[in-house]
Amino acid sequence: MYLCRNIRDMTIKGEATVVKHTGSHYLLSRLPQWDLFPAVLRGKIRLKGSSATNPVAVGDIVDFEAEVTESDGGMSSLVSLENPAVITAVHPRRNYIIRKSTNLSRQSHIIAANLDRAFIIATIDYPEIKLPFLDRILVTCEVYNIPVTIVLNKVDLYRESHREMLEAFHEIYEGAGYPVMEVSALTGEGVDALRDACKGHVSLFSGVSGVGKSSLIKALDPTLDPRVGEISDVHLQGKHTTTFYEMYALSSLGFIVDTPGLRGFGLVDLKKEEIALYFPEMLKASEGCRFAPCTHTHEPGCAVKEAVEAGEISYERYSSYLGMLDEEGKYR
Ligand code: GDP
Ligand code: ZN
Repeated sequence: MYLCRNIRDMTIKGEATVVKHTGSHYLLSRLPQWDLFPAVLRGKIRLKGSSATNPVAVGDIVDFEAEVTESDGGMSSLVSLENPAVITAVHPRRNYIIRKSTNLSRQSHIIAANLDRAFIIATIDYPEIKLPFLDRILVTCEVYNIPVTIVLNKVDLYRESHREMLEAFHEIYEGAGYPVMEVSALTGEGVDALRDACKGHVSLFSGVSGVGKSSLIKALDPTLDPRVGEISDVHLQGKHTTTFYEMYALSSLGFIVDTPGLRGFGLVDLKKEEIALYFPEMLKASEGCRFAPCTHTHEPGCAVKEAVEAGEISYERYSSYLGMLDEEGKYR
């Protein structure tokens, strides 16, 4: 974090993270500080080769400049909506997730960038989990290079009634290399551990509606209410404030990006022979396949099929893979 000051024209330059995007304006903060201040884009910032409709997304690290008239006080007191900071450059992204437009225009919207981890919130029951759907999300996160933790919420409801399924779930997903946490937003079980896992990171929270994602975010930090949108809009009052995605600061020192639903980013364009690269346990086993590339279906000497037969790779994961092979091409 740096601030250089040119006393003559009172220009402050610095580096900050985009925490919210509301149409024409952005809110920036110099993480890990939470010193929100508004900013606008100068001219056209275009990222090379990007077809995204938004050139700057939540989580982006940007360079900014601000013209100020007073030399003291924090950025938020120096920069007002009438005199917002100007985003002059976007730093290269470590990773990002995109939502594809439903039409065939090949346009996409960047949901968030520079994520340290994705927490995929799910429930074994209430609502019932769909493993092929979860696997598709996991593949997407692998493609985008975002480490995933699976968070099973509402364990108070199904730990007893679905004990075997719960155990099988751990076996399948921990076996594939994904940490699985059990939590209950209702009883508070596991919430401290989740809070610890979020500490010091920028994390994506996602899950299909009804799994208790909002309740969980509230349990992590009671001052947050994702439904209401807890970031103060004081800087943005009087303007059109359609919020797309935003980052929240946990009082326990962590930053989370809430996403309304998973469906939008469950789709990635992958060639048939690429899909298995994003099932980590299959990628590992495929080193032993006789043929390369190997689709792990009909080829003789396929180490992945052998691992499935030996129970080292779960049949559920393998069948999700076969399902994705089958459907390949349908999304183009
Ligand atoms: P979201 O759509 O994922 O944001 O889900 P909500 O937070 O709105 O929760 C959906 C429903 O599940 C609500 O009725 C919550 O009260 C309930 N719920 C959330 N978490 C838990 C939990 O850990 N245990 C139980 N029993 N119910 C929960
Ligand atoms: Zn193979």
